[in-house]
Amino acid sequence: MRKNIVAGNWKMNKNLQEGVALATELKELLASEKPNCEVIIGTPFIHLATVAELLKDSVIKVSAENCADKASGAYTGEVSAEMVKSTGATYCILGHSERRMYYGETYEILKEKTLLALANGLKPIFCIGELKEEREAGKQNEVVKAQLEGSVFNLSAEEFSKVVLAYEPVWAIGTGLTATSDQAEEIHAYIRSLIAEKYGEEIAENTTILYGGSCKGSNAKELFSKPNVDGGLIGGASLKANDFKEIIDAF
Ligand code: PEP
Repeated sequence: MRKNIVAGNWKMNKNLQEGVALATELKELLASEKPNCEVIIGTPFIHLATVAELLKDSVIKVSAENCADKASGAYTGEVSAEMVKSTGATYCILGHSERRMYYGETYEILKEKTLLALANGLKPIFCIGELKEEREAGKQNEVVKAQLEGSVFNLSAEEFSKVVLAYEPVWAIGTGLTATSDQAEEIHAYIRSLIAEKYGEEIAENTTILYGGSCKGSNAKELFSKPNVDGGLIGGASLKANDFKEIIDAF
């Protein structure tokens, strides 16, 4: 059975002290009431070691938001997958549309990052999703197919079974616009059918596919009620413990 997951993506928000305060608040909120899904928080690199230590006895897992496409060496300012793993983080968000858009991350770069994350024992949360113009032109299926084929369908079945996918329509990220639950279900089912074609039914059934894009307490329950929507990747609403908890409570 696949896991349901609610994962936060703090993006470039919260200094170290603020991040520690948020993680502490969330840990306390979830200690008294065990969640019915896996809970992950994705934090900036500088928070990882401290937050992973803080959460080591809690139900909350820690994720990086990125890693380098090189293993090690003279790449000033970069952070390798091995370094991420050494902090105690267990997941790594890859392929977020902001990284594709602002940092020129291509299919090829993301293929390298995914391989390095897996080789270092990190589980990728791999993001895919179409732009507004692509949705308007009815090209969303084509886009997500190319993103999967370009960066993750090269993986072995064993490697792919460690990947969590996040479908995030770019037009819904941080805009307040959300895909309807039917739109999400339709494309999640399509993504699962592509996985089945490539890796077989069993792996497809076991792959967690998250929805991301203005998911919040008020719409999470409806989105997560769909059979192919296995949780959410949450940006804005992961920055306040109570807002994030409301989404977790949708399960
Ligand atoms: C995201 O960036 O992954 C995201 C889904 O953001 P938001 O929830 O703010 O739309």
